[in-house]
Amino acid sequence: MNQQLYSIRMHSRRAGDHLSGAENLVGLAALESTAALLVRRALQHSRGAADQLRLVIDLVDPDSLEHGCLPDLRTLQLASVAEARRCAGQLLAQVGVTTQAVAAAMQALVDGAAPGGRSMRGAMLIDCRTGERLEADRARGVRVSRIGMTGQLDAGLTAQLEALDLNNLHVREALLLAGKVAMHRDILAELCWSDDPDYTAGYVSSRHFGYLRFPQLKPSGETRGGRAFFLRPGSDLAELTTWLESAPVLFERAGTLYPPVGWREYATFMGTATG
Ligand code: AMP
Repeated sequence: MNQQLYSIRMHSRRAGDHLSGAENLVGLAALESTAALLVRRALQHSRGAADQLRLVIDLVDPDSLEHGCLPDLRTLQLASVAEARRCAGQLLAQVGVTTQAVAAAMQALVDGAAPGGRSMRGAMLIDCRTGERLEADRARGVRVSRIGMTGQLDAGLTAQLEALDLNNLHVREALLLAGKVAMHRDILAELCWSDDPDYTAGYVSSRHFGYLRFPQLKPSGETRGGRAFFLRPGSDLAELTTWLESAPVLFERAGTLYPPVGWREYATFMGTATG
């Protein structure tokens, strides 16, 4: 893509609390319509209309633009939240996250990872060996930003996701976010479940196994959710945080999107997981 790109980011609040955030990387022709979509999102949020909304638009320096490929996507069907969490933990262990670190991350998400048992606005940074939390601000966390996809990828991805009945904002945005996170050499894997009480799905993701969704990774009605990025010991936190928050990444290719499978089928196919 030769045209200039703009990063457009929206952040909204309601009654003093974070309500929603969203963003895109778009060309000039799509800037106004994207702004209108983001405004509408903040005003039509399921938790009520925003009473404060900020839009930030920055021209992207073409020399700083990185290009990415979205992760492969698979849905793993498990019988219960407990089973899904057990399998998610097993997958994280395969890429080097210790049992201790998985347990610490899951407990923080269950308890509400921000002070007062609330959900964070961004992600936790977790040492993949000790489970220690490393982010500087436990309410804000680290916010992955400046991600978008080409129009061509958007059209192809929409069709593929529709075929799997997964063409919703949760999945689309999580794929982009997980795609950027997986590009950083010091992040082994990611764990996420939503803070939207109606959305029970969650995922684990890594550059080794892609984006693995679990339709039920938290109970329905639960408002606590969040994200954990598992870091190699000794990671440069300042460099990593700046890159996640500021480096523009444009996704140009999709990964492979697979139909849903059961755990045993997946484990057998991959030849690594057990249970
Ligand atoms: P969502 O997938 O939008 O329901 O968000 C689930 C959780 O992920 C939120 O509660 C935040 O803790 C975290 N989160 C949301 N957006 C971001 C982001 N851009 N970067 C890092 N973490 C995020």
